[in-house]
Amino acid sequence: MSEDKNICIDCKRDFRATRDWQRFCTPVCRLRSHRRKQREIEASVVEQNRVASASVL
Ligand SMILES: [Zn+2]
Repeated sequence: MSEDKNICIDCKRDFRATRDWQRFCTPVCRLRSHRRKQREIEASVVEQNRVASASVL
């Protein structure tokens, strides 16, 4: 492929990927995206626990 421009999946900005698998313009965006995903997982776990404890009562 001659086109080596990618769009960062976190900030949606164009960037020049140095690796085919790069999805983020900077490590900052990568970290931010991972943190967000982690928060979503934690939120869903909290929700599951809430439902579980509610069914016990
Ligand atoms: Zn970015």
